[in-house]
Amino acid sequence: MNSTTPSNKILIVEDEQDVVDMLTLNLKKAGGFVVSTAADGAAGLKKAREELPALIILDLMLPKMPGLEVCKVLKNDGATRHIPIIMLTAKAEEVDRIVGLEFGADDYVTKPFSPREIVLRIKAIMRRGKGEGAPDEKMTLGPITVDPARHHVTVDGKAVRLTTVEYKLLSMLMLRRGRVQSRDRLLNEVWGYESLIDTRTVDTHVRRLRKKLGKAADAIETVRGFGYRLLES
Ligand code: CA
Repeated sequence: MNSTTPSNKILIVEDEQDVVDMLTLNLKKAGGFVVSTAADGAAGLKKAREELPALIILDLMLPKMPGLEVCKVLKNDGATRHIPIIMLTAKAEEVDRIVGLEFGADDYVTKPFSPREIVLRIKAIMRRGKGEGAPDEKMTLGPITVDPARHHVTVDGKAVRLTTVEYKLLSMLMLRRGRVQSRDRLLNEVWGYESLIDTRTVDTHVRRLRKKLGKAADAIETVRGFGYRLLES
């Protein structure tokens, strides 16, 4: 679409002006970010489609269209699916933030949050998006093939559409097939930072990844109380 869109543009969809100002100020201070804002869900969706930002910070409670709905629509659209979304939630919205991850949000931050924390997360996600440290050669295990050059995954030759996080998770497991990977390690390598989010996030993403892998889902073994392993078939 718009190929001149700067890859460092961050769209903030939030109706609380204080939060918008705080985020804008800190992102500008962090350097290298261009900030765009929308004050309700419908406007946020429109801007996301027009501007194709590098990342979206999406509040859950929004006028006109709730954040979850915006997230769902964006993650179901091939043109916007790849854009990482960080959801902003209040403490009481625990259930909703889990649902947010189910809908394809890449991460969530609970209000009140520190500016430093959110900037760290944004940087981690943007680094991740560039595929730093990713392998180059095609990897195959049973019916699953991962093509790092194209960020493409197939099961029995059929394309499987994965989010950035699901893709990274699968390629990490693939790269270390047969070896158990702890939730902490996956968190650190896939999400790019330590101990800022809880390990249930890993479980949620693995569950979604399994669902998408369909008949190949059993290749991912759960090692209870520890983590996951991709079984060599
Ligand atoms: Ca709000």
